[in-house]
Amino acid sequence: SGGIGMDLAAARQRVEELRRLIEEHNYRYYVLDQPSISDREYDALMQELIALEEAYPELRTPDSPSQRVGGAPREEFNQVRHPQVLLSLNDAFNEGDLLEFDRRVRDLAGRPVEYVIEAKIDGLAVALTYRDGLFTLGATRGDGQVGEEVTANLKTIPALPLRLRRPLPFLVVRGEVYMPKVAFTALNAAREEAGEPLFANPRNAAAGSLRQLDPKITASRSLSLFVYQVISLTGAEVATQAGALDFLAELGFPVNPYRVVAPDIQAVLEEVKAWTPERRASLPYEIDGLVIKVNDLALHSVLGATAKAPRWAMAYKFPAEQATARVEGIILRV
Ligand code: NAD
Repeated sequence: SGGIGMDLAAARQRVEELRRLIEEHNYRYYVLDQPSISDREYDALMQELIALEEAYPELRTPDSPSQRVGGAPREEFNQVRHPQVLLSLNDAFNEGDLLEFDRRVRDLAGRPVEYVIEAKIDGLAVALTYRDGLFTLGATRGDGQVGEEVTANLKTIPALPLRLRRPLPFLVVRGEVYMPKVAFTALNAAREEAGEPLFANPRNAAAGSLRQLDPKITASRSLSLFVYQVISLTGAEVATQAGALDFLAELGFPVNPYRVVAPDIQAVLEEVKAWTPERRASLPYEIDGLVIKVNDLALHSVLGATAKAPRWAMAYKFPAEQATARVEGIILRV
């Protein structure tokens, strides 16, 4: 169901249907941590919606799920307004998407740009606040503006530094809480034994484990963390994303060892090709792609962001082995 070439009425009907489906899947995924379709299938629905909204701009609305981040925070938690919106990322599925991203970036920057490539950790995003070097507040991304306060739960994660190696006055960082593959397998095995519903994947297991009202349950779930962004900082300065990652590691944060500076988009494409399915499978945690970011942080403010995602970064999603064949069936079934 490509969509382009439909008449406006048919396109409107399909857009409305897609929005309804996507909202329902968002709720199941972000609020209940229990998705009923695969991420590939979800991405296909979203790509179809985006393509229709591009082909029929009159159908665009600011509340479309294509324009929004994540899901509503759960009411059982205290809600925290983030000092800076925690955005999502735009997706690239092939070389063409990455070349187009690079062209847009260079057009806006007016000069060649260097990139950093990172692993896209398949977990859930959190914002961590440190005052005078002490961890004081932790929140989930939620809908990007408002998240859930989960400080006590985050404190149970052994990888999370409670005190920085340098007592900076103020620091907010963004990272990803994830569940290692072995912990996920063990958790689901125990749940199966106990007759409890299984988690669909390590990401949903991590989200379900962090978003517990009782931190003792979180503590029992073997969660871990990678930190990848400086959101707010006083008492020091960082000029590049690669420098920020090194700085975060010096402060004592767990930073993913894979980070590569690429002088241009051709080098990015080479690096992307080097990620074989075997290499990905050899990691002890799941990654669902790579994140390509402009290295120069001064350019980030020049490039800015849309409502959903920054213009200075792109998520390259690994191709799925055989996911798309089921998409039509799912659409008909829901
Ligand atoms: P995303 O997962 O596609 O990408 C953005 C996220 O990547 C960020 O929020 C951040 O948390 C994470 N990330 C990991 N490593 C990073 C790094 N090094 N640098 C920057 N960010 C990094 O976007 P999303 O908005 O979190 O969620 C969309 C995803 O959720 C899609 O994969 C989609 O398939 C899935 N989803 C699935 C369903 C379903 O029903 N199956 C429903 C909703 C969403």
